[in-house]
Formats: sequence, C-alpha cells, structure tokens
Amino acid sequence: MQKYSGRCLCGAIKFKTNASPLWTALCHCETCRRACSAPVVAWVSFKEDTVTWTGNLNYYKSSEHGTRGFCGTCGTQMSFVSTRWKEQVHLYAASLDGSPDYKPSLHCYFGERLRWISINNDLPKFETSAPQ
Ligand SMILES: [Zn+2]
Ligand SMILES: [Zn+2]
Repeated sequence: MQKYSGRCLCGAIKFKTNASPLWTALCHCETCRRACSAPVVAWVSFKEDTVTWTGNLNYYKSSEHGTRGFCGTCGTQMSFVSTRWKEQVHLYAASLDGSPDYKPSLHCYFGERLRWISINNDLPKFETSAPQ
C-alpha cells in the first residue's frame, strides 16, 4: 500500500512513496508564492531515492541553489531540490491524493508573508529558513 501519492492537475506527472516525511513546513517566501501563485505553500520532504515518479518533469532553476520541477503540460509545480538539502526532494502537500495524515509543523520565511492572509495557529514561526 502506498503511504503517499500525488499528481499534477492533468495527471501526466505522478509520484508515490512508502517513506515517512523527513519534515513538513508552510513556506511564505516570495519565490514559493510566485512559483505557485499561492499565498502560502505547504511542503513535505522525503529522501529523494524513496520517491518514484511517473512522467517527465520539466525543471526551472529558481535560485542559485534550488531547482523546481513542474508539469510541462498543465504547469503544476511538483518538486523542489536544493544543494542546501542534499538527497531530499520537497513535494507540495497540496498535490497529494486524498487526505493523508499531513500536518504542517512550522511556518518558515514568515517575515515575507502576505499581510492579507490571517494565520490562526500556534505553530512555530521563523522569520527566514527554519533550523533543520
Ligand atoms: Zn500536468
Ligand atoms: Zn519558500
């Protein structure tokens, strides 16, 4: 049984893993927001070699250290890898199938958040990157 699976909007790209998440976070950084056109992005990180992909991702180097994978057909953002988090792939919790037991554990880059969204939880809030 797959623990986690997900897909892009059109279904050309799919992923699955039986691994447990390494960490989870809600990111408010401007790069994530612009990449997804979303006010906040929910991340779930896995060891890269535990995730199996179907379909071919397109890639965009969004910073000096980070590369984002997306579907070339529908444009859905699918993955993030960085030299800062070696051997990890960060996936978008909102692309997961069904309602897995995903729980964000913190807010990162809270200093860059949009001021028109209200955050009503007691999760730790880090102005920039969270300590890993
Ligand atoms: Zn797609
Ligand atoms: Zn971010």
